[in-house]
Amino acid sequence: MPQRTAFITGASRGIGRACALALAASGARVILAARHAQKLDETAEWIRSNGGQAEVVCLDLADPESIPRAFAEAVSKAGPIQILVNNAAITKDGLAVRMKRADFDHVLQVNLGGAFLCIQQVLPSMMRERWGRIINISSVVGQTGNAGQANYVASKAGLIGLTKSLAQEMASRNVTVNAVAPGFIDTEMTQVLPAEVKERILQQIPLKRMGTPEDVAAAVKFLASEEAGYITGHVLNVNGGLFMG
Ligand code: NAP
Repeated sequence: MPQRTAFITGASRGIGRACALALAASGARVILAARHAQKLDETAEWIRSNGGQAEVVCLDLADPESIPRAFAEAVSKAGPIQILVNNAAITKDGLAVRMKRADFDHVLQVNLGGAFLCIQQVLPSMMRERWGRIINISSVVGQTGNAGQANYVASKAGLIGLTKSLAQEMASRNVTVNAVAPGFIDTEMTQVLPAEVKERILQQIPLKRMGTPEDVAAAVKFLASEEAGYITGHVLNVNGGLFMG
């Protein structure tokens, strides 16, 4: 099996970092991307010192011009990309009645628009090679809705629609497009939640624990593998049973 190159956005911490480590451990050359270089460099160094191959590029999904620049740099360092993990995302929570238009637009631009622009960067070479894996990190709230997160939820539900449409467009080229929908995962994004909110969510999770970034990374690694070649347009829940859709 040829060595693959995987591009992971938001690879400096949390779920993205775990995905990068898992893909590197499975033999892929990984490109780590986010806005700030320092933590990416530390992760790349860790991967290299454990026998893997890793490169770092900086990009800001809120800045459309930085995206083609980052992909050009990645390709020059590591060759064409066969696996794209659209993981980076932000929240700007608030009740819709008070939400500023700018906060709605910004979250949609980063989480959904940014993912789309990254996909556009990798499609031509994947189509030429007739092999590709695109994995979009959605969220359980994109399936259920969540009060106080209209912008984030719209972006995550949008990623599911984007996944299914692209899966149909790209199937004839042997490019699979899937989404992973994590539930309640222990990362910096959830560490800011008040203890009573965490406790309330935990009560609703049949497996009675928060997920780990590694739980999500295992699903991503599988969808990126040769063995997952007959799965496309799927939303894989990694949520401890919180939502069984
Ligand atoms: P996190 O800890 O907040 O990490 C976010 C990553 O995205 C960081 O590497 C960050 O690095 C990068 N990032 C943020 N803004 C960016 C931008 N404008 N351009 C490029 N990179 C940017 O997030 P996480 O909890 O690991 O979540 C990862 C994914 O899983 C997200 O899509 C999230 O929506 C989804 N998810 C998480 C949970 C959960 O419970 N944690 C649940 C469901 C879904 P820089 O700051 O250096 O840019």
